[in-house]
Amino acid sequence: MWCDRIVTNTRLIDLRSDTVTAPDEAMRVAMARAEVGDDVLDRDPTMRRLEERVADVLGVEAALWVPSGSMGNMIALTAHLSRGEKFIASRGAHVLDSELGAAAWLSGGMPEAVDWGDRPGHLPVEAVRGAGGATGPYYALRTTLLCLENTHNAAGGVVTPPDEHAKLVATARDIGLRVHLDGARLWNASVALEVPPAALTVGVDTVQVCLSKGLGAPVGSLVAGTAAFVEEARRLRKMLGGGVRQGGVLAAAGLIAIDRIPALATDHANAATLAAGLASLGWEVGTPETNIVLAATPDAGATLEALRRVGVLAVPMLGRVRFIAHRDVSAADITEVLDRIAGIGR
Ligand SMILES: *Cc1c(COP(=O)(O)O)cnc(C)c1O
Repeated sequence: MWCDRIVTNTRLIDLRSDTVTAPDEAMRVAMARAEVGDDVLDRDPTMRRLEERVADVLGVEAALWVPSGSMGNMIALTAHLSRGEKFIASRGAHVLDSELGAAAWLSGGMPEAVDWGDRPGHLPVEAVRGAGGATGPYYALRTTLLCLENTHNAAGGVVTPPDEHAKLVATARDIGLRVHLDGARLWNASVALEVPPAALTVGVDTVQVCLSKGLGAPVGSLVAGTAAFVEEARRLRKMLGGGVRQGGVLAAAGLIAIDRIPALATDHANAATLAAGLASLGWEVGTPETNIVLAATPDAGATLEALRRVGVLAVPMLGRVRFIAHRDVSAADITEVLDRIAGIGR
């Protein structure tokens, strides 16, 4: 949607998102050869393998493939929330800002954003305690769920380490909240922190992870938790029209994607190179913790337009310019991006 009128003969370098990654040859071959069945009737064998593998990687009982991360989040929120119950999530969270109100419209939740503390994307436990509130009389609004996001997209791919995660979960438990983790980029957090993904899901009720971002699968996420949750999630997925038949064709790509988690380190290195390069060109840019680079410019819209003219695509994010490094851009591409940007100023 941001590349409707590109007026350039230059090769485009697309840093809008890690979702632009295309399935490569190995993935396409695996997809073509996938063993399949009817997943709605009695489970597709390749889907089942992927779901068991991901549950294992996440350290939870069971997982369910879903077509998108938004559907995974929506299913988890629907399972957790009764109509009119309040849930809290970090300012800028995907469940608040990027899912078209589905958390309220379909899951029936009453959203409240909790402000970051001194560090972007990090929730202070006191703020969670304050927003969660105490149980009041019968006419008091009921808060029942905390949604976490790791890495935090809008804050710039910010990572929540296991100790901070544990404190947030303990606080939520203390005030009677369930916990859902939006782990669209949990893989990036795990690589950046050098801990297994399961170290970042400790104590949560449910977690959602994406295969179609930095890992390069064409489609798919998983929503995971207890076996009882997944049984309910399977019904909710069907209601939402997300039951697919020979899904093994898609799950086969997912199985390869999971093997590629360690390769995200390359994206993190490329993001670091980009940020350092932009800083040396005088841009106001933070040090990325994972694959997302956020730059503050006087006019983000004008900057995006100038970038587009030199064949570099990025997106606006909370008033800033967001670049994402991913497996379809190389270190040489990043150098090329910096060369092109050197020519345009800010
Ligand atoms: C991408 C993303 C999702 C899911 O997005 P879909 O496009 O629906 O797959 C969820 N949460 C976060 C933080 C994301 O970045």
